Amino acid sequence: MKRSRVILEAVILAFLGALLPLFLTIYGAWSLSLRMEEDRLMDIASQATTRAERSFLDAAATLKTLGGRRFISCTDAHIGEMRRLVVNSRTVEEIGYIEDGMLKCTSWGPENRLIKELAPDFVVGKDIKAWVDVIPMVTGANPMSVVQVGPYNALVDPARLVEGLADQDASVVVTAPNGVISATLNTPDTDFTDKLGRETTKGTVDGNIYAVNSKGGWTAIAISSTNGLFGLFSNEHWFFVAFGTFATIVIIGLVIRMSRKRLSPLGELSIAVRKREFVVHYQPIIALSSGVCIGAEALVRWQRPDGSLVRPDLFIPLAEQSGLIRPITDQVIEAIGRDIGPLLKQHRSLHVAINFCADDFKTGRVLETVGQRLGNSGIANDQIWLEATERGLMDIDEARKTIAEARMRGYAVAIDDFGTGYSSLQYLQSLPLDALKIDKSFVDAINRQTATSAVIAHIIEMAKSLKLSIIAEGVETREQAEYLLDHGVEFCQGWFYAKALPAAEFIDYVETSLKRQDSGVVMLSRTKSTNSSEASLSSRP
Ligand code: C2E
Ligand code: CA
Ligand code: CA
Repeated sequence: MKRSRVILEAVILAFLGALLPLFLTIYGAWSLSLRMEEDRLMDIASQATTRAERSFLDAAATLKTLGGRRFISCTDAHIGEMRRLVVNSRTVEEIGYIEDGMLKCTSWGPENRLIKELAPDFVVGKDIKAWVDVIPMVTGANPMSVVQVGPYNALVDPARLVEGLADQDASVVVTAPNGVISATLNTPDTDFTDKLGRETTKGTVDGNIYAVNSKGGWTAIAISSTNGLFGLFSNEHWFFVAFGTFATIVIIGLVIRMSRKRLSPLGELSIAVRKREFVVHYQPIIALSSGVCIGAEALVRWQRPDGSLVRPDLFIPLAEQSGLIRPITDQVIEAIGRDIGPLLKQHRSLHVAINFCADDFKTGRVLETVGQRLGNSGIANDQIWLEATERGLMDIDEARKTIAEARMRGYAVAIDDFGTGYSSLQYLQSLPLDALKIDKSFVDAINRQTATSAVIAHIIEMAKSLKLSIIAEGVETREQAEYLLDHGVEFCQGWFYAKALPAAEFIDYVETSLKRQDSGVVMLSRTKSTNSSEASLSSRP
């Protein structure tokens, strides 16, 4: 996967990661504020209807008390009693006494005015009549509500209905049972309240938050604006915003960590494994005496999406450390079956050498994975060489068991990079190996007057005494090839012959090599003849 894509994905994720919690918390805080505000308005509306109903019933009760007593009309005693009741009542402003269509007297004193009796605005029970919005005859003061029981009526100031709610930050409308507005507070938008029903409910419409409460026929609507909500929102819900910010920081942090991981070498390698970005190249293994290709070593390459190839020494150590080497090995083995299975089936003299990590040898997984993945490939077991480094054979008992089992199944086992580890002759002797690969560093030293240059002759002698086949690695010059041939080394691989080739090129290489063999052309002509052009490891102990 391209780094730029990982970075782009990370930026998009971080952006969404930052916005989402912020959006959710703002939305959450907003909805909560809205709900709290609706509840507050419902409380106000409910207080208003309770007051309205109570004032109305209070006034009616006062009048009923008065009606239950006998007075000579409009005497001082009568008027005095009316006045006393007004003073003692919280709701009643004035009481009037009516007889024969005339207002005879009020709690203020005697009167004698003709009353024009209009149909009541609403009636409660049999005997309580009510009018709203009436201008008092005597005082001519603000419009009042009138409650009448029998010959008495009482004036109730509608302001009393919303009294005590005045310090609330809301507009209120109280309507009487007949639907007429009887009190308002803080100049409500009556166009809006007219549209609302009369049953108890709450909600938000067009920037208005409202609550409607109905009780005993009275309805109160409390309204406030969503604009006011921002104050509430920022005051009371700072913790929401704090939480949102915290969540945003955490999410961005996680995204950064995840992207770092993905961009880290290990992250990139895991993605490569998942996307199967590995290809296998094949380095021809040559019989020195004839120059004929007898097989190949399978060498993995990591093919990046841009087509570039990464050398194995750059990722195999990390893969081994992390355990990713196992799926990589599996992919290599599967590729071998696909790439050169048919070729090996056609030419039974050819073999393929596969590199295994130390762990696969220690645990014996090497056998399981090769068996599973190449069992049906058409490649015979004796065409498969398993390469293990000295490190892989450190645990001698386990190694011996794995090697013995491998050979029983027909595979050949070679020790790789021989000479670079610490293995002793004694150690080698105790393992039932088939071949030994001489590390390139010793081949490099051939014919150079260095300390290592003498070592290769000893390694060759040692291998011979153990009856191991020898494959020399990293042959780059004719002199090296001649030296090896002179010293009885049978096989080699190196750039002098061929680099590791993509499968198709390797197949071409083999066909050409075999044709050359058929026509009798031999690359290195030495006087010594060996039987190693018989391309198999035939020197098993
Ligand atoms: P190796 O197994 O010792 O493989 C031989 C390495 O030497 C290969 O390098 C090969 O291309 C290189 N080589 C061969 N002839 C010459 C030559 O004449 N001159 C020079 N300068 N180099 C030559 P490569 O392919 O880069 O592989 C490096 C190492 O990566 C291998 O060393 C092996 O240890 C590891 N490796 C490669 N493929 C696999 C695999 O499939 N599994 C495991 N576990 N390790 C692998
Ligand atoms: Ca190798
Ligand atoms: Ca090697």
